[in-house]
Order: sequence, then structure tokens, then C-alpha cells
Amino acid sequence: MNRINGICRNFLWGGKDSYYRAPAVSWDRCCIPKKEGGLGIKDPKTWNKALFGKYVWWIASKKDHLWVKWINHVYMKGTHWTSYSPPHDCSWSWKKIAHTMETFKAAYVSDNWLGTSANYTPKEGYIWLRPSPPQVRWWKICWNTLNIPKSAFIFWAASLGRLLTRDRMLRMGFSQGVNCYICDEVLEDHPHLFYKCHFSNCCIQLLHQQLDIRLDPTDLVNWYNRGRKYSLLIRKVVVACHVMLTYLIWHTRNKARVHHQVPYPTLKRDSQQVTIVRVVIECLKFLEDQGNKIAFITVNVNLKLSRVFF
Ligand SMILES: [Zn+2]
Repeated sequence: MNRINGICRNFLWGGKDSYYRAPAVSWDRCCIPKKEGGLGIKDPKTWNKALFGKYVWWIASKKDHLWVKWINHVYMKGTHWTSYSPPHDCSWSWKKIAHTMETFKAAYVSDNWLGTSANYTPKEGYIWLRPSPPQVRWWKICWNTLNIPKSAFIFWAASLGRLLTRDRMLRMGFSQGVNCYICDEVLEDHPHLFYKCHFSNCCIQLLHQQLDIRLDPTDLVNWYNRGRKYSLLIRKVVVACHVMLTYLIWHTRNKARVHHQVPYPTLKRDSQQVTIVRVVIECLKFLEDQGNKIAFITVNVNLKLSRVFF
């Protein structure tokens, strides 16, 4: 199961069955639901344990089953399952089931496992076994149906503060400099790169101009949740553009890092405006390419959103 978990993890981060760098986000985190800040991937190892839980439940509930009778006759010999430990010379599969019993003992004691459910299901067992951190506020924005997967993925990693910005690389002992690759003026961390950097600020301002909307990008979650002024579709389009912009800023930053040049801040005002317009157009193009026709039409026919809908 560890090997299967490893292949899944490597494929997520590298697109292959082998990946030799440290993943930006832990596999445990990836395997929690999207609402709680994960990717909603089902962890094969935990799922396997939850499936084994079915056998434990049969034994614990003394199910009238030939296999349970056989187990009781051969191994347990009348011992209560909560105080049973397997012999050293028993089969591999029985050892695994006995090991799962150990895990489920806690549920039996603290959650009154047998009393709360008429019948055990692996789904219930999986929910009980997996970690459950509190819900994150940005999950609806990140997994908005108008987002394209790769921009949602970068937005997800950025929201967790897990992109390899220079402040993080420095803490890990990899980076020789700390200044932002784009502006080369201040420490490159997540807030600077996506909100405070001159380049990001220009992009955000122009996007807001084009969408004819005013909002604080650091308050996007509240704006989306509160937004009674705008329909859900408009809010989805606006946050999709912001999510795409996060992706494009990260993409621009990576290009600046590889090519050792910082093109945008050194450009003259006119050229810079053209560049930023291109960024917005790319936002729209990405939406169109992904078949988000409603979003594309909404934004492209008339960028004045209020005039389109009100
Ligand atoms: Zn900067």
C-alpha cells in the first residue's frame, strides 16, 4: 500500500511514477476533502484499512457468518475482540485484520462505534480514520466550477502558502537571494508576490478595470460569500479571473527566475499596459479554451459586467 500511495503521490507532483523532489504539500493534506483544504483524493492506505474494518465489525457485532464462526473457532476461541492479540505464527491476512482491530478499539470505546451505526460501511470507517482539520474559507473560490484545473491547483497551493517562493526556499536552505524575481526590490513571499508586487498590483487593477468591479483582492473570499450585489455567475466569473491571474503571476515569476531577467518593471508604461492587457486576454482565452463558454461570453461580449446583467 505504501508503494501504491507513493505512485499516486509521484504522479500528482511529477506526472510519472517517480518523483525525486520534496512535494510542496504533504500527501496527508492532499487526501483530505476540498472543503478542509485538501484535494479530496482518497488515500488508498486508509481506504484499505477502512475496508478491513468491515471484518472487524463482523467480529465485533458477532455477525452470523461462516467466516466469523471459523475465526472464533481457530483464532479467537471466545476471547473478546477488544482484548485479543494474534499469535506470532498466524497468517499474514489475519495479522492485518488483528492490527485493524487495534485501530478500531479506540472508536469502540470513545465513539460507541457499534451503537451509532446499524451497519458499518467502509465510507464511515474512512471518515473516522482520516484527519479532519477545520474547514478553509477559500475552498469555494479555489474549486469554483469555472476555474480550469491547473489554475485551481496553483491557487490551492498558494492559498496553503506552499508554493516555493524565495522566503520558503531560504528557510529550507536552498535560496541564495531573497528578493522578488519580478521586481527585485523586497523579500519574495506569498503576500508580496500575489498582492503587493508592482506587477501583480498592475495586473489586478487592470483586471478590475476591465471587469468594472471594485474589490480588495485580499478580501476575495468575503466578497464572494457576501456579494448580494452580484449574481452567483458574475461572482464565479470574477473569482475565476482572479484564480487565473494567480496562475499567470506564478508563471511569470517562474519565467523570470529561469531566464534571469525581469521584463515587466523595466518596460515603459505603454508597453507595460500592453503586457497587462495580454495577461487579461490570456485569462479570457484560457476560459474559452476550456469550453467555459458562459464565462467567456459573460466577460468578452461586454466587459462591463453590470451592463450585461442589470
Ligand atoms: Zn515583487
